[in-house]
Amino acid sequence: MPKYAVLVIDMLKDFIYGSLRCERALHIIPNIKKLVSIARDYGVPVIYVNDSHIKGVDRELTLWGPHAVRGTEGSEVIDDLRPTEKDFIVLKRRYSGFFETDLDLLLRELGVDTLILTGIHTHICVMHTAVDAFYRGYNLIVVKDAVEAFSEDYHKLGLELMEKFYMAKLVSTEEIIKLITITT
Ligand code: ZN
Repeated sequence: MPKYAVLVIDMLKDFIYGSLRCERALHIIPNIKKLVSIARDYGVPVIYVNDSHIKGVDRELTLWGPHAVRGTEGSEVIDDLRPTEKDFIVLKRRYSGFFETDLDLLLRELGVDTLILTGIHTHICVMHTAVDAFYRGYNLIVVKDAVEAFSEDYHKLGLELMEKFYMAKLVSTEEIIKLITITT
């Protein structure tokens, strides 16, 4: 039986409503909400992987401008998806949730072997997290209607690369919910 964890990547106020707002991401909010609620019911760990930048230091801010700066409201998870006490939070300063964070240690101690990826952006933080997960031997499931990007082309590109080169299985929210309820 696979040992799953659901990752919710960068569903933060700045990314949805703030400085890097993305209207295209609004439709994935109810899907992620449904999925994390089922995951919690079935004992599947929910891990929020959140950008948390240090002002004046993090190189990425030069490229994107200020976003998810540590300590600001914009760096908080959106109200609709607010984490519960049971959930885990990993803070990152680069695209990948694995880069210089304790995500791998957390996953290993939880006995997780299969990551269910949700959040934004399909071709940036979701994909770079998928790449690092692949390198570390995790199986990948990407929930295609629970990830989004600035454009349809970027979204499709991210999905295609993850499927072709990082062995990600692409599923819908309904399909992964069914899998969780059957296999856990
Ligand atoms: Zn960032």
